[in-house]
This record gives sequence, structure tokens and C-alpha cells, in this order.
Amino acid sequence: MSGYTLGADVGGTHVRLGLLTPAGELQNVQKLRREEVMPDSDPAAFGKVLRDYIARSGERVEAVGVGIPGTLSRDCREVLKVPNIPALDSLPLAALLTQRSGVPVVLENDTVMLLSGDIHRLRLPPKGLLVGVYIGTGLGSAVFYDGKPLKGRCGLNELGHFPLPGRKERCTCGNIGCAENLISGRRLQALRAEQWPETDIGDLFPAMADSPELEEWIDAAACLLAGVVNLLDPEALVLGGGVPQMKGFPRERLEKAVREKAMHPLPSEGLEILWSPGGDDTGVLGAARFASGI
Ligand SMILES: [Zn+2]
Repeated sequence: MSGYTLGADVGGTHVRLGLLTPAGELQNVQKLRREEVMPDSDPAAFGKVLRDYIARSGERVEAVGVGIPGTLSRDCREVLKVPNIPALDSLPLAALLTQRSGVPVVLENDTVMLLSGDIHRLRLPPKGLLVGVYIGTGLGSAVFYDGKPLKGRCGLNELGHFPLPGRKERCTCGNIGCAENLISGRRLQALRAEQWPETDIGDLFPAMADSPELEEWIDAAACLLAGVVNLLDPEALVLGGGVPQMKGFPRERLEKAVREKAMHPLPSEGLEILWSPGGDDTGVLGAARFASGI
């Protein structure tokens, strides 16, 4: 596809929208309040927002990609479960938005859209197996194979809900002991409240630098990531999300620990670990590129 496409990144609080030109430039990125454009009483009203945005752009938009922070049906036509926006649960959202916007709408998990954006910004060839792991409030993951999301039986990719032995925390998914309860911003917030209550969350990593808590955090993250590397043997492992963007995040220590824990000599040797450049519009870019079929 070589025309204009629109990307939307849906979050619990905000929705971001942007227009991708045929030259690959992202324009007119807007940050809107989710409750205003996708109200709980009628989430498909977002279709009208898309229609108005397109009309104002004056361009002929060929498709819209929408990143959803939850699980979708394997064909990505229906939303199954979105913990932060329960009003979306069980909606045939792709058809509803297509109907109300007048433009074909494709949905995908928001982490897939992030990895799509990062593949572009990191100039990764869309060949072979690429893995993205995003540590934000929770822990998200995506896998691409030859430029398309790798789909299993149900289309899920939920590394954050990898069960860890010996953990007792109840997860947002309802299970006990999921990885994201340990490897996430949520866990860092809890650590701060328990151990460093006087420290601003933005200064937490420098404050934790030599602590056993940080050692445990890195160890758990490295075990999980090395397991992914051993299982999938990717061309590259992309790490991103808000947590690695924080001041003093121990990128080198984490990389070293992943390389140590992955199998030797392969796939550890030559393993490419890349850090997402970040940016609030990566999910928008990825969604628009996804809609263009790139
Ligand atoms: Zn879980």
C-alpha cells in the first residue's frame, strides 16, 4: 500500500493519533483523552473521531491501524479482554470502527504496534525472527517473523504472564506469580514504597544501585529474557518501555546477565540486544505502518 494511513495507540488514559504520509513521515500526532474519544458508554464512537480526523487532514486515507492494550481474537477482529478499558471487552471493534469511520480498520495488540515502530526506527530488516519485550507499568512482548506477528493457536503473546516459581502475588490476569509482578514498573513502585519512600520514582535506579533488590530484579529479568532467547533464537532482541528509559537504568548489567544466562556458545554468542529509542509516538507509527501492510 502506498497511500496515507492513520495510526492510533489506545491507552487507558490517552489515545494518540497520527497520519503516515506515503513518504513514511508521521504527521499531526495528537494526544486525546481516552474517555472523551472512546467513552465507556459507546467505545465505537471512536470511529467518528477517526472519520473527522481524516476529513480535516484533507487526504485520502486508505486504512487505519489501532493498537489495543489487551488481548484480541486470533484474526484481530474482536477484542477479548482489556483490563484497563473493560468497556472494550467482547466487542467486534474492527467492524464497528470500519463502519463508523468509513475506512478499513485493522486492530493489533499495542505491543505488536510498538515493535513494528521500533523495527522501523532501529532500521531492522523485517526478516527472520524479531522479539520485542517492553517493561512499562506491566510487561509486554511481541514476536515478528518475516515482517508479520507470529501467531499461535489463539494469537496470544504474553511473556508478562510467564509463571515464576515461589511467587505468591495475585496478577491482574487473575493468576498467581506472573513475571510482570516482579519485572515491571508496578514492582518498582512497590519497592520504592517499601524501601525508598523518600526517593522520587525517577531517581529510584540510582538509589537502588548496589542493593540486593536491584540484583534480584536484574536476575529475574535476565532469566526471563534468556529463556526467550533460548526458545526463539531471534535475529535481535529489542528492549523498550518506560522503565528502561528511566535515569540510571542498568542497561549494561542487564545485557551482561542475559548473555551469561543464555546458552553457550549459541545463541548467546553474537546475540543482538537493541534498546528501543522510545518516544510517545512509536505505537502510533507502528500502527500506521501496520495498516499500510509494510
Ligand atoms: Zn498474569
